[in-house]
Amino acid sequence: MVDRPYLCPICRSNRTQFDLVFRLARAVVKDAETGAITYESNTMELLGPPRGPEREVHCRRCGYTGAEHLFVRAAQRADERRVPYRRSSR
Ligand SMILES: [Zn+2]
Repeated sequence: MVDRPYLCPICRSNRTQFDLVFRLARAVVKDAETGAITYESNTMELLGPPRGPEREVHCRRCGYTGAEHLFVRAAQRADERRVPYRRSSR
């Protein structure tokens, strides 16, 4: 879906400036008895692209972060409005 047009569903003015949100992970080793962290890596590992739960998009204009499909759907709705056509009623 990343090649589909986006429109921020909140500010509705941004179609071009976004961040794709990825998860960073830091490896830790815990003591099974006390729960204390006995080792913590110095580096962060990039987990992604996420499987299962959907990719998130961050609007760089208003700061909203939401699921990618919300941005794609907002763009589709705006395009439908821009090219009006008669829609059959449900
Ligand atoms: Zn926005």
